[in-house]
Amino acid sequence: MMAPFVDIRELRCHFKSGDNLLAAVDGLNLQIRAGEVLGLVGESGSGKSTLGRIIAGLQSSSGGDIVIDGEIMPNKYSRRQFRAMSTRVQMVFQDSYASLNPRMTILASLQEPLWSLGIRGKAARDKAAYWLDRVSLPQSAGERYPHELSGGQRQRIGIARAFISEPKLVICDEPVSALDVSVQAQIINLLQDLQREHNTAMLFIAHDLAVVRFLASRTAVMYLGEIVEIGPTAAVYESPRHPYTERLLAAHL
Ligand code: ADP
Ligand code: MG
Repeated sequence: MMAPFVDIRELRCHFKSGDNLLAAVDGLNLQIRAGEVLGLVGESGSGKSTLGRIIAGLQSSSGGDIVIDGEIMPNKYSRRQFRAMSTRVQMVFQDSYASLNPRMTILASLQEPLWSLGIRGKAARDKAAYWLDRVSLPQSAGERYPHELSGGQRQRIGIARAFISEPKLVICDEPVSALDVSVQAQIINLLQDLQREHNTAMLFIAHDLAVVRFLASRTAVMYLGEIVEIGPTAAVYESPRHPYTERLLAAHL
């Protein structure tokens, strides 16, 4: 059997909450296979975003191991380590405002991830122009600043920026939750097309169970900082094994 692209073992992340420690991620085990779409569902506060940020190297963990592509990741990244890792793992946020520099034009923002790969100058500009087109934005959008775009356009840029360095894994954290319903389906279809085109593994975090059923080949259910159930999406949705999954499905579908 092929080793998973990401192997997470006994991962922990604690936050101080007054005098107590809150275990946002609590001894979690999870594997993400190369090229798969893995859905991650669970109620608000179950630790999904924290897990996503730790895998993407945006937050340090309190314990446990993450192995990415056979390499044990540091608990806390140096700038250089983060830059190297970010060519393999990228993240799409609920609102791409979080990842776009407000003072950079869209074209400059698109080129930024390429610097880590040593791609600069005309090669970088050409790639950015290609990706503007690939996410269905006109070239003129490249001259604009993030606040001059609509939420949907900004999310297209966030997606282009995540895929431009051809990472092996893209973590999507509620990527359509902040968008108008009319735009959501377009963005979901764009993500699905790009995932298939590049055979990118995708961890798709959502509280919308219908979207996960549509996109994910496997689904993991997170509850109180742990994965309580994981399996093929159809099996998890049609015959859940864990009582929490049953309750989640009953409440949302
Ligand atoms: P989800 O994405 O599933 O809604 P989160 O990962 O955002 O869950 O949060 C999990 C828990 O960790 C929540 O109780 C949240 O309040 C807490 N938490 C998340 N980030 C921080 C932080 N930076 N500082 C303190 N507590 C946090
Ligand atoms: Mg979240």
